[in-house]
Amino acid sequence: TQYVYRFGGGVSDGGKGDKNLLGGKGANLAEMASIGLPVPPGFTIGTPMCAVYYDEGGAFPDSLKAEVANGIAHIEAVTGKRFGDAADPLLVSVRSGARASMPGMMDTVLNLGLNDQTVVGLATTSGDERFAWDSYRRFIQMYSDVVLELDHGAFEEALEIAKEDKGYFLDTDMTATDWKALVEKYKALVVEQWDKPFPQDVHDQLWGAVGAVFGSWQSERAKVYRRLNDIPSEWGTAVNVQAMVFGNMGDTSATGVAFTRDPSKGDNAYYGEFLINAQGEDVVAGIRTPQYLTLAAREAANAKPLSMEEALPEVYRELAGVFDTLEKHYRDMQDIEFTVERGKLWMLQTRSGKRTAKAALKIAVDMAEEGLITREEAIARVEPQALDQLLHPTLDPKAARDVLTRGLPASPGAASGKVVFDADTAEKRAAAGDAVILVRTETSPEDIHGMHAARGILTARGGMTSHAAVVARGMGRPCVSGAGSLSIDAKAKVMRCAGREVNEGDVITIDGASGEVMIGEVPTVQPELAGDFGTLMEWADGVRRLKVRANAETPLDAKTAREFGAEGIGLCRTEHMFFDAARITAVRQMILAEDEKGRRAALDKLLPEQRSDFVEIFEVMAGLPVTIRLLDPPLHEFLPHEEAEFAEVAAAAGVEVDYLKRRAAELHEFNPMLGHRGCRLGVTYPEIYEMQARAIFEAAVSLADAPIPEVMIPLVATKRELDLMKAVVDKAAEAVFAETGKRVDYLVGTMIELPRAALRAGEIAEVGEFFSFGTNDLTQTALGVSRDDAARFLQTYVEQGIYAKDPFVSLDVEGVGELIEIAAERGRKTRPDIKLGICGEHGGDPASIAFCEKVGLDYVSASPYRVPIARLAAAQAAL
Ligand code: PEP
Ligand code: MG
Repeated sequence: TQYVYRFGGGVSDGGKGDKNLLGGKGANLAEMASIGLPVPPGFTIGTPMCAVYYDEGGAFPDSLKAEVANGIAHIEAVTGKRFGDAADPLLVSVRSGARASMPGMMDTVLNLGLNDQTVVGLATTSGDERFAWDSYRRFIQMYSDVVLELDHGAFEEALEIAKEDKGYFLDTDMTATDWKALVEKYKALVVEQWDKPFPQDVHDQLWGAVGAVFGSWQSERAKVYRRLNDIPSEWGTAVNVQAMVFGNMGDTSATGVAFTRDPSKGDNAYYGEFLINAQGEDVVAGIRTPQYLTLAAREAANAKPLSMEEALPEVYRELAGVFDTLEKHYRDMQDIEFTVERGKLWMLQTRSGKRTAKAALKIAVDMAEEGLITREEAIARVEPQALDQLLHPTLDPKAARDVLTRGLPASPGAASGKVVFDADTAEKRAAAGDAVILVRTETSPEDIHGMHAARGILTARGGMTSHAAVVARGMGRPCVSGAGSLSIDAKAKVMRCAGREVNEGDVITIDGASGEVMIGEVPTVQPELAGDFGTLMEWADGVRRLKVRANAETPLDAKTAREFGAEGIGLCRTEHMFFDAARITAVRQMILAEDEKGRRAALDKLLPEQRSDFVEIFEVMAGLPVTIRLLDPPLHEFLPHEEAEFAEVAAAAGVEVDYLKRRAAELHEFNPMLGHRGCRLGVTYPEIYEMQARAIFEAAVSLADAPIPEVMIPLVATKRELDLMKAVVDKAAEAVFAETGKRVDYLVGTMIELPRAALRAGEIAEVGEFFSFGTNDLTQTALGVSRDDAARFLQTYVEQGIYAKDPFVSLDVEGVGELIEIAAERGRKTRPDIKLGICGEHGGDPASIAFCEKVGLDYVSASPYRVPIARLAAAQAAL
C-alpha cells in the first residue's frame, strides 16, 4: 500500500476528492497545487497510517521510510534545497489534518530541520541572522513542547526573563545575539528536563514530529472534541510535511488567515486578519493583536494599524484573486491560511469555512441567488441543528445596559450567566443547573469542555480568529473576544475593568453581536424570522414531502409553533393541563375518589376548564389538524405531597385528611412507567376519557372554523383496548352532536409506543384511523431502558459504541426503526390511507427525520422551537 502522496511543483498525487485518505488539509493542498495556486511543495502521509501507527504500538512500518525519503526528495527537487544541508538547508513544517477540521486539537511543528549547523546556513542564505536564530529558538520551543513533552512554561519564562533583562517589551525587540543566547538557554533546559541534548539529526527530528502528530490523535482534548462533534475515532489523522515559507522575514513578509465571506454575518466581503513579520501561530495565539485585511474593515473598526490592502497592496490584490478562484472552484465560502515571504504569496490551507448559522443561511441564499449553487444545494448546505442558534432570543434593544467594556463580536447571540474563571468550574456549575459565562484571558483547547458547558465565552485577548472565537462559533455559543481592558486574575477569581470588580458568581451579560459586556442580566427579545431565514425555509417547504407539526399543549406554544411554520399539532398532551393551579385540587379529588360517582363529581368541575383549553387551541390553529391525546401518565403523579395540599383536597371533597393519605398510599406503584397509565386509565375509569372527549367535541362544535380533531389513545397494546376506548369517544361525540344539533368530522387513532402494538398493527388499524409513533416510550420498551434512568449508563454505552448516539435523542434506526417499519407496513395493508406520524422527541432530530422520510410517514411532530429544524431536515431528506 501507498502511504505518501506528493503535492506542489507541478505534482499532485491527490485532490479534493481524497479527504478520507489525505485528510482535509492534505486533499486541499493537493487540489490548490493542481489548479496552479502557489503552494509550497510537500507530501501527505495518509490517514490509514494513523491506525497502523497505533497497531504497531507507536512505531512505523519499514516501507514508510523509503516513501518518506521520496517525499523529502520531491521537496528538495522543487525547492533546490537539501534537508540537513549546512549551507542551504530545507526546513519543513509537520502538521496534522483529519477528514473533519479539528481546530487546534492536534499538534504542529514548524521550522523543522534546524540544528547548530543549519541555523548558520539559514542565516547566510536569508541574509538575516536575527531571523535564523529566532526560527531556531521557535523550533526548539515547539519541538520540546509537542514532541518531547517538556514543560513549556519554563521556555516561556526564559523568554520573558530575557526580555525583562534587556528592558524589552516586544519579541521583535530581541536581536540576533539575544536569540542566540536564548537558544543556549533553551538547549540547557532540554538537557535539564530530558537528560539528553536537543536532537541534532534532522531525520530524527522529522520522525519524532511525525510520531507526535499521529500521537496527538488520541490526546485527551482531541477525544473530547471528537465526542462533542461526532467524529469517529477510526478516521485517524493524516500528517502533512511541507517546505517552510516564512512570514517573519521582515516588513515585506506576513502571515494571515482569511475567509472569502464574513463567517459571522455572512456578508459577501473578504474578511480576515494578518500580521506583518510573524509566523502563523502568532495570529491564532492572540499574542499580538492582528491587523485587518481590508481598508473597509479597518475603517469600520476605526483601527489604526494599516490594513493589508494598504500595507502590501500588490500581494493583497493577488490574494483577492486567489479568494475568487477558490470560491468559484469549491463553490463555497473558504477559510484560508496564507503567508507572504518577502513579497511572494503562498497558500498554506483552504477549506470550507466554519460559519455561524446566520452566516450559513445568508451565504447559502446569496450563493444560490448569485447562481454559484442551486437552490437544492443551498438547502443542503445549512445544517438544520444550527438553526437553533437563530431561533433563540437576542438582547432587547430597548433594555437598559450597564456596559462594563467592549470586545470583538466573535460569535453572535446573547447570554447572561454567572462569571466563572476556569473550565472545570464552568462544567461543575453548569451541571448543577447554573447558567455560566466562562471568562478567560484567552482560551486553549484544554478549555473546550468548559466552553461547551458555558452559555457564553468572554476573553481579554485574541482576535476574531482566535481559538475562543473559532470554537465558540462552531459550538453556537455567544462569544466576545479580545476585551483588552479587562484585567483577569483567574487565581483570585476576580476581573477588573474601569475601576470596577466582578467576582466569580456575579452575573454578567455578553452580546456576541455587538461585543458588549454588561453587568447584570439584560432582557431579551424574540428572533427575526423573515429575511434569509424566511427565504431558505420557503425553498425548503417547496421540496419537502413530510408535513411538520408541533407538540404543543398551551395556546402560547401553539402560537409559537405556528410562527415557526407548524402545519398542525401532532401531540397535545392533556395531562399538562391538569397541573394548572386552578384545577389541581379537582384533579386530585378525582384521583382519590373511591368510586365512579366520586370521580364524576370531580370530572364535572374539570369539564368546562378542559373545554376552554381546547377552544383556545383550536382558535389558534384555525382549521389545521390537532391531535389530542387523552390522559396518559400514572395517576399518582398528580397526588398531593404537602400537608396543606391534602387539607385543600379534603375540604373540596368533604373527606378526612387521614382517609386521603391512605388512598394516596394505595395508589403507590413499583414501576409506574409500566403501571396504571395510558389507555389502562381509560379502560378502568372510562368516565375520565368520556369527559375529555366531551370537552373536545363541545369545543369543536362551538367554533365556526373548527379543525378536524384527531383523538389519540395512548399506550395501546391490543386491538381490544382500542375498540373499547373508541366506543367511549364515539359515544361522547354522538351525545354532544345530539345535544347541540351540530356535527364535526373527527378521527380516532392510537399511539404506537409498545412493541406488541407495532407487531399487531395490522389488526389495530382495523379500528385506528391513524397511528402516531410515540418513540419515547417505544424506545424505552423496545430497548428495555427506562427513559428516566438511562442517563446514568447511556454515555458509557455510546462511548463503547453499543449505540452510536443516545437512542432517546436519535432514533435507534435498526431496532426501534424496524418496529416502525413493520407497524407502518402492516397498518397500511389493513387501511391503505392510514395517517402515519411520529411525536416522540425524535420528531425534531434530523437523522430520525431522514428515517421517517424513508419509511414514508405523513408527518413529524416536534417541539415548537424545533419546527424550523424539522422543516429543513425534512427538505434535506427529500432531496
Ligand atoms: C412518546 O412516548 O414518544 C410520547 C410522545 O409520549 P410521552 O413522551 O408523553 O410518553
Ligand atoms: Mg408515551
